[in-house]
Amino acid sequence: MSADAEDSRPLIIIVVGAGLVGFAAAVALRREGHCVTIYETSSFKTELGAGLAVPPNTLRCLLGLGCTVANLSPVDNLCFTSMAYDGTAGMKSDSTDYEGHFGLPWIMVHRVDLHTELRRLALDSEGMGPPARLHLSHRVVSCDVDACAITLADGSVQGADVIIGADGIRSTIRAFVLGEDIPIPPSHTAGFRWLTHASDLDPYPELDWIVKTPPLGARLISAPIVPGKAGTKVDHRTIVIYACRGGRLVNVLGIHEDLRDQDSVAWNAPVTQEALLDFFADYHPRFRRLLELAKDVHIWQMRVVPPLQTWVNRRVCLMGDAAHASLPTLGQGFGMGLEDAVALGALLPKATPVSRVESRLVAYEKLRKERAEFVAKESFEQQHVPAKRGLYLRSTEMREQIMGYDVKEEAERVLRHLMAQK
Ligand SMILES: Cc1cc2nc3c(=O)[nH]c(=O)nc-3n(C[C@H](O)[C@H](O)[C@H](O)COP(=O)(O)OP(=O)(O)OC[C@H]3O[C@@H](n4cnc5c(N)ncnc54)[C@H](O)[C@@H]3O)c2cc1C
Repeated sequence: MSADAEDSRPLIIIVVGAGLVGFAAAVALRREGHCVTIYETSSFKTELGAGLAVPPNTLRCLLGLGCTVANLSPVDNLCFTSMAYDGTAGMKSDSTDYEGHFGLPWIMVHRVDLHTELRRLALDSEGMGPPARLHLSHRVVSCDVDACAITLADGSVQGADVIIGADGIRSTIRAFVLGEDIPIPPSHTAGFRWLTHASDLDPYPELDWIVKTPPLGARLISAPIVPGKAGTKVDHRTIVIYACRGGRLVNVLGIHEDLRDQDSVAWNAPVTQEALLDFFADYHPRFRRLLELAKDVHIWQMRVVPPLQTWVNRRVCLMGDAAHASLPTLGQGFGMGLEDAVALGALLPKATPVSRVESRLVAYEKLRKERAEFVAKESFEQQHVPAKRGLYLRSTEMREQIMGYDVKEEAERVLRHLMAQK
């Protein structure tokens, strides 16, 4: 192929993983005219039903990708109300005008609705650029970084100009990028997760404060904070509650210290309602009423990917949880992966020659790694270090740094700088 022809052709891009971030990457790159193929292990018959916080920086990215917010049936998060486990006022109650301050609201959505919307934007024949192609039930088993090719479980090999490992916290691609498999250590944190129909709360006026009493927003119910002196056990239990899907569903997440041997138990397992009630036995009856309505409860392990030596090896890169999974403390896990996707789309615009891909991926890592790893570190420390608990909600500066950020603007600035150096 002549140099001119190479310069004008779209990039051939493989995305490993069709989670929220894999689809977001496909959307960002198809909009630049590239040809994207996604390989996904699962068949998507069982998608995770749970709520997801979409703060202003995340929403800014979704809008930039062409997302129709109405398709997400959002619920505005107008405040955080914090209460103590015994029913008294908790460490803080904060109302913030996110829309007034950041120009966009903080919304709560259902993960399945968000996944469906990103999938539509990635695959729909109507969108900008060629629709991505999705191969379900296709597990990627290895990656040849030098050849920029993946091998699937059936033994077939697929080459590309760029390979993106958006394959989650237990990534396969990560070991090939790093040249070694690294352990993702237990965090000793887990969460009970379930959804309740809002109408199930109707008969109980003591639960009106959850989704009926304005201002609506996230409710946090924390166990007592015991100073972390030697020999003292810090109680990490926090129940986070918010409405999603147009207010018809209530998402509940009971975060706690996980005393099990996390390496020997499942990452996600069903638990009984009795076990749940037992776990929060000392909580006030009006909180326990909500637990009594719980059905189909699962316990999820949560881990943090430690800072990696690199996210990029030649024309292969990591993105989303594969690179920087965090605890949900800041509600920014997906947001950081989405910012990765938007950044890469901006750094690989239409007509990027293959010969420039390696240097653009280096720029991608430089732009993204420090910020995403900061969020991952804070998510752990704000869960585990007593003095840092609730810091994100207390610190205007930190909220500004995280939610006021415009990744597209930053990536375009980096690209202009790179182009000027040519
Ligand atoms: C309890 C909890 C609450 C959370 N709440 C929030 C929140 O409120 N806000 C927020 O922003 N974030 C939140 N997060 C974080 C957020 O859910 C994740 O950061 C995000 O979903 C990661 O998406 P991903 O696409 O990178 O990874 P995943 O969702 O893990 O997707 C990876 C995909 O890759 C596929 N895959 C894996 N290996 C292979 C392979 N070898 N070949 C092919 N396919 C493969 C998997 O099947 C999967 O579909 C929360 C997380 C947890 C655990």
